[in-house]
Amino acid sequence: MGETPETILVVDDSRAAADTLAEVFRREGRPVDIVQDGAEAVKRASAGDVALVLLDVELPGIDGLQALRMIRATTSRRYLPVVVLTVHDDRQKRLTAFKLGADDVLQKPWDADELWARCQRLMTLRGRFDELVRETEKLHALSVTDGLTQIHNHRFFQDRLKEEFRRAQRYDDPLALVMLDIDHFKDVNDRHGHPAGDAVLREVAQAIRGSVRDTDLIARYGGEEFAILLPRTHLAGALTVAERVWRAVGNLRTGPGGTIRVTASLGISGFPSRQVLTGEQLLRTADEALYRAKREGRNKICLFQQVSFFSGPSSRTG
Ligand code: GH3
Ligand code: MG
Ligand code: MG
Ligand code: MG
Repeated sequence: MGETPETILVVDDSRAAADTLAEVFRREGRPVDIVQDGAEAVKRASAGDVALVLLDVELPGIDGLQALRMIRATTSRRYLPVVVLTVHDDRQKRLTAFKLGADDVLQKPWDADELWARCQRLMTLRGRFDELVRETEKLHALSVTDGLTQIHNHRFFQDRLKEEFRRAQRYDDPLALVMLDIDHFKDVNDRHGHPAGDAVLREVAQAIRGSVRDTDLIARYGGEEFAILLPRTHLAGALTVAERVWRAVGNLRTGPGGTIRVTASLGISGFPSRQVLTGEQLLRTADEALYRAKREGRNKICLFQQVSFFSGPSSRTG
């Protein structure tokens, strides 16, 4: 969201009327932009630096009410106060303006002090609204981030897994999952203490991050286990990524004097596959591959192996 917007946008086809309006705000130290038609107003209002729009109803081409409707359609993500100005006997337009989302409607001739007071109040409200949005965004970011490693957490991973799986199915795209578990991590804690173990987890997360693309999703799945979700990636591509991650983790030197070294076991599974018809199955099969890597001695990468439905020799002719 960035900085608080400052500019007042005055929309009036009469240059003289626009200047008079602008003066009310300029003398309060506010920057003012003047545009003279509805289409221009819609375009200008959607830029992020506008704090409030003063909109004359009577405009050539797209009139003020149409412009209001379009502004509301394009700036729905934030609260942008719009004050509509009508001629004094146009009751119907005043009512319509409110219906279309005007925050206030003033009749001409307006009183400068009252105009400023009403607009100032709306801008204060807008400021509070922005604060709330920023606060909500911050809380959302916290709720999907792992506090220790600053990569995404289990909850976020589960949501994205479902989403990405649906997308892969719909578009017939491949989707791969790599699960990584640090080998004998309990020993790291036992020998060097939990803070040192925490530092290793942070470094492993960074090593993984440095080994994948921005479009890939990495998450701390739990304790010393990490998930790497690779959209639009076949098993062969996933294997390349897994090898890069495996090497990066193995090359880490942490702790005093770089004395702590770890290895990791990785399991890979992919969609499409006969055994992978849901996101959950993708996860379960990657996990199976991971546990095979553990069983087979750790510090290695295993691919999930499909159960073969055929046994014995088969031949094809044709
Ligand atoms: P394996 O090779 O079979 O994976 O052995 P392991 O010791 O890594 O596996 P195990 O599941 O027995 O132990 C996981 C360890 O990870 C134990 C736990 O204390 C540690 N761990 C989990 N979360 C954290 C954490 O946030 N910080 C630290 N320092 N350690 C953690
Ligand atoms: Mg374990
Ligand atoms: Mg482990
Ligand atoms: Mg584990």
